[in-house]
Amino acid sequence: RAKQEAKGGWIYLDAYEQGQHHARQMVLAGIRRGLEDGEFRLYFQPKVNMHTGEVAGAEALIRWQHPEEGLLVPGRFLPQVEHHQLNIQLGEWVLQQALKQMSAWDKEGMVLNVGVNISAVHLQSDDFTSRLSMILSQYPQITPSRLDLEILETAALADLDKAVQVIKDCRALGVTFSLDDFGTGYSSLSYLQRLPVDTLKVDQSFVAGVEGNDENLLILKGVIGLSRAFGKTVIAEGVETVTQGQALLALGCEYAQGYAMSPPIPASQLPVWVSNWQPFPEWRELRPGDIT
Ligand code: C2E
Ligand code: MG
Ligand code: MG
Ligand code: MG
Repeated sequence: RAKQEAKGGWIYLDAYEQGQHHARQMVLAGIRRGLEDGEFRLYFQPKVNMHTGEVAGAEALIRWQHPEEGLLVPGRFLPQVEHHQLNIQLGEWVLQQALKQMSAWDKEGMVLNVGVNISAVHLQSDDFTSRLSMILSQYPQITPSRLDLEILETAALADLDKAVQVIKDCRALGVTFSLDDFGTGYSSLSYLQRLPVDTLKVDQSFVAGVEGNDENLLILKGVIGLSRAFGKTVIAEGVETVTQGQALLALGCEYAQGYAMSPPIPASQLPVWVSNWQPFPEWRELRPGDIT
């Protein structure tokens, strides 16, 4: 039997738990080594304004270029670090790297806003605001309002008062906030009113139903209407077709992100994408909210 330290002493693990524990330790050790060896990458996915056609920014999405297993998506390794110190170390690496990339692009003449995903644990860690401020101060040429922090609805819910305070403190630094995967959590209207975020990112599960005539469409109409009523910017994620984008735009959602424009791509490929980007004519003909 294996022993594991737990609150208040040692607990014994059975064979299955021992295996699980071992597997997690292996992943954690791998991530630690991967960080040291520079195996993590930021991929970027463009966000566009469907009506004007302009590129509104890009979302940074972490990847792990694993020496044996190849390119790993976050679903393969982020859950393992959820309640671990490494979560914060990875999160800080992402922030650093995103700003570093922005400043490199600035020098190439591509000035882009960037969105970074922040985990709940990271956002609520004690010195989040001061450490963010420190990182931002290393890039004085980057206006903080060009950095958008994407937080999950569920993350903010865990400790609403704390989240609201951190968001306010960070906004005082100039950064903006988006509520990610919006619609999948359990937020009530009063909760939405209290969260000082700038943008709501409509979850891709609702976007998938936009062409149908089902409940998803009703939810989507509700979510977009609500966002507009609260004066928030709305962006749809997971927009895979031009038709989906058209329907979203007609409902009043102006911004989109998804495979219809581009999958997440390595940083080195983004400038090429931006210079080749041609807005879809179907979108430009519509004014946001044309049918609402
Ligand atoms: P998210 O922030 O909601 O990111 C959107 C996810 O949808 C990304 O998956 C993206 O590749 C995928 N996606 C984009 N367009 C489409 C589309 O048109 N169709 C479909 N089916 N999928 C699309 P990815 O990169 O695997 O990331 C998954 C999640 O992992 C992210 O969801 C985010 O919550 C988390 N994540 C990613 N990078 C980071 C990071 O640096 N830090 C933290 N804390 N979380 C991250
Ligand atoms: Mg996101
Ligand atoms: Mg999302
Ligand atoms: Mg998601």
